[in-house]
Amino acid sequence: MGSQEAMTVARAACPCGNGQVQIVVTYEESDWGSRDHNWHGVVACKRCSPLYAFVGAGRGANVVRVEDKELSDRLRNEAKAIRHRFLASTEVEKVLEKVAAAFDVLPSIASRYRLAVQLKLETATLATFRRHARNRDTRRWLASLRHLKHLATLFAFAGGDPADVSAIEAEADALEAQAFDALRPVMSLGPISLFASSEESR
Ligand SMILES: [Zn+2]
Repeated sequence: MGSQEAMTVARAACPCGNGQVQIVVTYEESDWGSRDHNWHGVVACKRCSPLYAFVGAGRGANVVRVEDKELSDRLRNEAKAIRHRFLASTEVEKVLEKVAAAFDVLPSIASRYRLAVQLKLETATLATFRRHARNRDTRRWLASLRHLKHLATLFAFAGGDPADVSAIEAEADALEAQAFDALRPVMSLGPISLFASSEESR
């Protein structure tokens, strides 16, 4: 473990004008510049510091109001919870069980491969599928593919209602869009890059 270095890569006047907002990149001395993404924002102003937070935006960072960030995080977590609840539901469980059973009755790896491609679960070649399928437990494999993006196809195949999947997807997407909109930038700083500044600070 090398020692930690810190460098201020961007700075600007804070919203009230009496202090500064800064973006600081920290890195291991040993891997100088190979990773720029360990960054944090600093509000060097007594008045502004309880009011503002930072979020990554493109190659830089935006300064946002603390309450906007909290609302955004809440909405994003809600979207995540909706997806998780659905993925853990008995409805999804039943569909995956039916799909697993459909795989299990197939006589060969080639026929399972064709079904996997048909269900959009596999994009690799038959050779790769064969290599992975040899010691694979079908139920565990399907459980590892438990994402909303796969489920509409699986629901359609297993006699579930794909509309249930799209309703959950739409609900979660709408919350995520709200979470994004809540992050109204007060100002933008950046880019977050060690190479953008020659000023050093500790
Ligand atoms: Zn200020």
